[in-house]
Amino acid sequence: MNYSIIADAYEKIESTSKRLEMIDFLVDLLRETPKEIIDKVIYLTQGKICPDFVGLEVGIAEKLAIKSLSKASGRDQKQIENDLKKSGDIGKTAFEFISERIQTSFFKRTLTVEKVFETFKKMAKTVGSKAINVKISLLSGLLLDASPKEAKYLMRTVTQNLRLGIADMTVLDALAISYGGGKNNRPKIERAYNISSDLGKVAQKIAETGLEGINTIQVEVFKPIRPMLAERLSSTEEILDKLNGLCSAEYKYDGERVQIHKKGQQITLYSRRLENITNQYPDIIKFIKTSIVSNTAILEGEIVAINRQTGALLPFQELMRRRRKYNVTRFMELYPVSLFLFEALYVDGEDFTTKKYFDRRKVLENILKKNDKIKLAKNFVTTNKKELESFFEEAIANGSEGLICKATGNYSIYQAGARGWLWIKYKKDYHSEMIDTTDLVIIGAFYGRGKRAGVYGTLLLATYNKECDTFESVTKCGTGFTDEDLIKILNILKNHIITKKHPRVISTIDAEIWFEPKLVLEIIGAEITLSPIHTCGFGSIRKNRGLAIRFPRFTRKYRTEKNPEDATTSMEIIEIYRNQIK
Ligand code: ATP
Repeated sequence: MNYSIIADAYEKIESTSKRLEMIDFLVDLLRETPKEIIDKVIYLTQGKICPDFVGLEVGIAEKLAIKSLSKASGRDQKQIENDLKKSGDIGKTAFEFISERIQTSFFKRTLTVEKVFETFKKMAKTVGSKAINVKISLLSGLLLDASPKEAKYLMRTVTQNLRLGIADMTVLDALAISYGGGKNNRPKIERAYNISSDLGKVAQKIAETGLEGINTIQVEVFKPIRPMLAERLSSTEEILDKLNGLCSAEYKYDGERVQIHKKGQQITLYSRRLENITNQYPDIIKFIKTSIVSNTAILEGEIVAINRQTGALLPFQELMRRRRKYNVTRFMELYPVSLFLFEALYVDGEDFTTKKYFDRRKVLENILKKNDKIKLAKNFVTTNKKELESFFEEAIANGSEGLICKATGNYSIYQAGARGWLWIKYKKDYHSEMIDTTDLVIIGAFYGRGKRAGVYGTLLLATYNKECDTFESVTKCGTGFTDEDLIKILNILKNHIITKKHPRVISTIDAEIWFEPKLVLEIIGAEITLSPIHTCGFGSIRKNRGLAIRFPRFTRKYRTEKNPEDATTSMEIIEIYRNQIK
């Protein structure tokens, strides 16, 4: 398949400001793609070469990209750097320099998707002392064969600046339309994705075998499962109501979520974002080897820092002190941890994601040998709101963040990849006042004035609308930022600036600068009000009104472990609003 087909599709996708049109262009591209390479086209379109959990990234430094462009265009590196300073976009600069290249290759070949993909893969795998030169020569090789338009997208991809913003749900919609018999069938395809975390594989399967074949994608060890997430409520009464009067409340430990995959003595740990974090926790690996008795397993738990003297639970910030590439062993001794298991998703060949809560809890109990490093998450089963309240107080007193109250009935399955009402969190911050923390995505900004000249003065923030896969503006925030934060945010967002409002952003407010939805910040607000200008939950409470967070303040927590789709949802804001007026 010619790479020019992809480049043309990207250009169209980039030109639209409507999500539905974006999906149409993607559908056209998928229909034009030979089935055997549909996985590659999916990965490339998301700026990747494989699913995230494999940990192989295409990214190279801008300096290397410039060197490769200089080699392929026969132009001086300095000239390219100067142009890049002006354009601010390596894609545009590549377009210019390849259009006016001095040398043209005698043997210019047509660039194919296969060739681009294989070359990117080679680049990603190249390590060692000669890596830099090898990467430059591989990339300049591609650029020699590229048209200016192809060069633009090649360069954006290798420097991780593709910014098409085609998220997982957009791809799933496009797959449902192109191969799954229509958008209504998305949930079936989504399930396959949720248990495999591999969109390329799902695309390949559905393209080759249609909707029926998708069921052959099953839970497998070393293929991480997308995590189940919790909704939130602010009283024990509502929680019990929602869970049909009975729940198993578990401590909500304040650490790092981990998904453990085990086969014999081989163990891999995945983070909440499904990145491989095995190297961070040699101690946990050791404990698992001695304490989990099943041969194969996929389990979930929270790794928590503990006080060396007293064994008390410590907050998340303490655990983060261990986050480092080097000296892991030394820091492991300084900051010891425990693991609290809360889910069994797969044990010795059996898929537990579709089984009931108590079945999962039982198997977890059965495979865990008694020890003091790995324990089951402490739980309490109750039908009584007063008992639930005192268990909450106990959980807080013992250093946890609150409770996750879990459904236990016939349909108490593990909903991979979903934030639903089978798990409900009950935290300290909801408990106190209406002051509540939310995780919001930065979608736009306004320049600072006076003391804030040169940085962003106010950020336009959004919630995630899961049903429509869009980001809806909910507040403008300029409070809570230190000078350092403002510079840090400016630098992070530099790589996500786009020329117009992103197709997945719904906003009637005109920001001075728009961003690809990427960075998530924790924001605390005083209350939620109806708003004529913000689009969060528009029309769901009152006609022509959305919802807004009043008096927002940045808590200084950068939620970099969250994807934009993990941000607080518009539905959650609607719920908080309803509770507030009750
Ligand atoms: P938060 O920002 O509140 O941590 P989140 O968006 O990361 O939330 P939620 O679904 O809202 O995720 O809350 C569930 C999180 O709580 C899990 O991701 C996990 O890290 C943590 N957790 C701690 N203890 C438990 C438990 N017993 N069961 C499930 N999750 C738990």
